[in-house]
Amino acid sequence: MARHKQTSPGVRSCSGFAETLAHPDPRIAASRQAVQTRLLSWYDRNKRDLPWRRRPDDAYAQLVAEFMLQQTQVATVVAYYDRFLGRFPTAMALATADLDEVLAAWSGLGYYRRARNLHATAQRIAAEHGGQVPADVAELTRLPGIGRYTAGAIASVALGVRVPILDGNVIRVLTRLLAMRDDPSKASMRRTLWRVAEELLPATRCGDFNQALMELGATVCTPQGPACERCPLAGQCQARARELTDVIPAAVRRPKVQPLTLVTAAIRCGDALLFVQRPRTGLWAGLWALPSEEVERGEDASLALRRLRATLPAGTRLARCPISSLTRLLTHRSVTFQIHAGTCTLPKQLPPPKGKWVHPQEWAELGVSRALTAILKAVGWPG
Ligand code: SF4
Repeated sequence: MARHKQTSPGVRSCSGFAETLAHPDPRIAASRQAVQTRLLSWYDRNKRDLPWRRRPDDAYAQLVAEFMLQQTQVATVVAYYDRFLGRFPTAMALATADLDEVLAAWSGLGYYRRARNLHATAQRIAAEHGGQVPADVAELTRLPGIGRYTAGAIASVALGVRVPILDGNVIRVLTRLLAMRDDPSKASMRRTLWRVAEELLPATRCGDFNQALMELGATVCTPQGPACERCPLAGQCQARARELTDVIPAAVRRPKVQPLTLVTAAIRCGDALLFVQRPRTGLWAGLWALPSEEVERGEDASLALRRLRATLPAGTRLARCPISSLTRLLTHRSVTFQIHAGTCTLPKQLPPPKGKWVHPQEWAELGVSRALTAILKAVGWPG
């Protein structure tokens, strides 16, 4: 019990449970076995039919799914997954593709850093592992964009490695199951949760067990109003027994959302629109966008508009007043586009560096953000 003295109150209850799980008393060890058996049996009967579950032994397909699922809803990923795999069916195919082609296939999924990391990871797998996803968790975490969770998911689900996972859904289930009241974003709490997730793993079917925990969190043990009456772990759940499901897990403090305003130019030349490629780092890195300038803090937007004008081709006329304003909420930013319409009256004007005139039939092949799609709709292009 010395461990209790070193941990915070919220961790204490978990530590006690973790010790309970490992208790030599067979009646108590049976509660862990009950969690394993009940959860796996529930999963077998209730798992959703998702495209990546139809390729259980394909580690590359699992890797693509895990990248797509980072910070994105399952329903959104389903719409992209098969199409992406159809275009890049193997790690080798993805490794040899051009990054612009990959970004175009990712268009609309958001968080484009994932697409760049996935491409870079495929190149490393091709160069260092002969095109086969490594089965070693340490090797996996050395690849771009793969952290402990993603490595665990790929290794346990597709490669049968006995390794735990911890994502938002799993954290919710475990903290409620064990009535852990501490902030799950704290490092000490994370360490405890990883340990508990490992201790709960059964000797076999670890990949299914990990998926079952995630599935339970996504479909039954939801953030608000968990459906405890149909939960296979209701008999083992300490939060339910103590009527704490409303306050567990503890709310995590989110960083403040930063506002950002971009004056943006929608410049037409005939039926073409002027696009520019964004820098390789930062917001929407490497994607195609309309020319824009950031309004600095405390600055009048007219000054940013003046800077924007200076970047446009000769012969361009840009309206002083915006025709539309559109706000997109990103993870840590609220971005407002003030969209100004313009025309380039000199035919065959060269676009600015990193820019091009894009005709209506071409733009679907470019990697663009969902924000740009909304802007194009707002300006009625292509008509
Ligand atoms: S009983 Fe309720 S709170 Fe506990 S794990 Fe199941 S759904 Fe979640």
